[in-house]
Amino acid sequence: VEVEEKKEIKMKVYNYADTTPSERTALLQRPIIKTDEILARVKPIMEEVRRNGDKGVIDLTEKFDRVKLQHTVLKAPFDPSTYAIDPTVKKAIDQAYDNLYAFHSAQLDSKPLVVETMPGVTCTRFHRPIERVGLYVPGGTAILPSTALHLGIPAQVAGCKEIVFASPPRKDGTAVPEVMYVAHKLGVGCVVLAGGAQAVAAMAYGTETVPKVDKICGPGNQYVTAAKMVAQADSSAMISIDMPAGPSELLVIADEHSNPAYVASDLLSQAEHGVDSQVVLLASNISDAHLAKIEEQVRLQGEALPRADIVRESIGKSFVLRVQGREEAMRFSNLYAPEHLILHVEDAEDLLPLVDNAGSVFVGHWSPESCGDYASGTNHTLPTYGYARMYSGVNTLTFVKHITSQMLTREGLDRLGDTVTRLAEVEGLEAHRNAVAVRLRDIRAGRE
Ligand code: NAD
Repeated sequence: VEVEEKKEIKMKVYNYADTTPSERTALLQRPIIKTDEILARVKPIMEEVRRNGDKGVIDLTEKFDRVKLQHTVLKAPFDPSTYAIDPTVKKAIDQAYDNLYAFHSAQLDSKPLVVETMPGVTCTRFHRPIERVGLYVPGGTAILPSTALHLGIPAQVAGCKEIVFASPPRKDGTAVPEVMYVAHKLGVGCVVLAGGAQAVAAMAYGTETVPKVDKICGPGNQYVTAAKMVAQADSSAMISIDMPAGPSELLVIADEHSNPAYVASDLLSQAEHGVDSQVVLLASNISDAHLAKIEEQVRLQGEALPRADIVRESIGKSFVLRVQGREEAMRFSNLYAPEHLILHVEDAEDLLPLVDNAGSVFVGHWSPESCGDYASGTNHTLPTYGYARMYSGVNTLTFVKHITSQMLTREGLDRLGDTVTRLAEVEGLEAHRNAVAVRLRDIRAGRE
């Protein structure tokens, strides 16, 4: 029997100065997502849920998850047996909860914004929670109570009245107890035991037992992402979503002062997510000897991981780019717009002012991404695929909308009126002009 030799866990190495413009462009690219193909698969699934409600969700769960359920929804108050978990895990979830709660509650403006733009013209802005939100907690290949926390806490802090969780059932048809514990702790109203496009459709359109929501947030595989996009584009669903999502990514900037074992551990913690994970190391003025130490650590630590085979694939597709100094590294990083950026450089905090595009930044070698993934306080649901150029990660404001208001006094309208009538004339909107003109006539004639 021929034994297949395993590939070495090794990143490709490029020298930035030696790359051609087209190679540089290629290094910034993410793998192409075959959107049309996925959309074609997802649309009939969503249609089935729309037509058949709960029965549709139950049938699709049997088809894709191979689990036959009687009911697809668990309603609060949940039976304590559904969230019985190990006390040490409970303690860890409670600590993570406290840190996330502290950081996310500080994000909400405590009072309305009030600006008198001219004497007598007062503009205000205040926020209100989005009433009903659906939070997707992935569960196909791993249990993710951390995602339940990172989505649920900002929704709770924002004051959303109805929070719905959706997550695939386990093989025995039950919910993941750690996710249920988070649901219980957050006061979630119901947990939909379904995954993929069928879960998104249930929350977007509602069923006999799943409440229809106004916004759907959370990461997931390509079916989940495509379903969120379909629902957002469908005016009959009338929902918004947090952001488009792709496979998770990490960009590390490391210099000669970096600790090779720490750099390698961070690269690998990203690489183990899946074979499609994106990992980039920008080596800033690093000697050959130092780079060799990092490569050795990637290999040694990688081989020892339970997910070594996943890491072999994802590290094999990732690359090291040798650059001339930290400014050049930051220029590349800003073009790449990574989901996670780790600064393994001397005086790392001095680089923060140069960060223009990134989902979340980890500063200095005592700040592994894992802390942000779980428990330091920042959110781990972040823009991927270069969307960090224009999207923020999930935060408390993801779950509110801002409403503006204005109030003019008689004096205020007298001051502003001519500006408005003139602009309304330019746009040819006579009724607009008139709404001001009728009042100005009274003001200027001294009538009440
Ligand atoms: P998932 O919950 O996203 O998807 C599982 C569901 O997909 C199943 O319930 C099933 O119904 C459906 N499905 C599976 N095969 C299907 C098919 N052929 N056709 C239609 N539907 C099908 O779980 P997952 O698959 O493990 O993916 C989780 C994803 O979430 C990963 O890509 C992971 O990287 C990502 N993730 C991202 C973050 C983040 O913050 N960026 C956090 C956690 C997880």
